[in-house]
Amino acid sequence: MTIRTLIEDFANKLSSLMEGQALDRARLAVESALGVGGRRRGRPPKNATAGAAVAVLGRKKRKKGPKQLCPIPGCKNPAAPVFGMVCAKHKGVPKAQIKKYREARRAKKLKTKK
Ligand SMILES: [Zn+2]
Repeated sequence: MTIRTLIEDFANKLSSLMEGQALDRARLAVESALGVGGRRRGRPPKNATAGAAVAVLGRKKRKKGPKQLCPIPGCKNPAAPVFGMVCAKHKGVPKAQIKKYREARRAKKLKTKK
């Protein structure tokens, strides 16, 4: 065995060792990012992950602000922009009528606020 083969052997072992360590480190990084391994900055990892997921989901759902309800009195259905901000049930209601309902609702809201 020459010194060269010895060095090559050593280099091979070292590189495989470092590969293994890199893999371990990558796994640890992923685990800590997911909140699986260990605590991060004193926060409970489970809650942090759930909170982040909720924040992401909430942001996705509430991109256009809080959910609006159909302005028709007594209707509790959510309004959809595709129907002109009324619910699916009242999409046939004339716009002028909806405008009146909307104004009435706004006036009521302002009154209850003050
Ligand atoms: Zn409605």
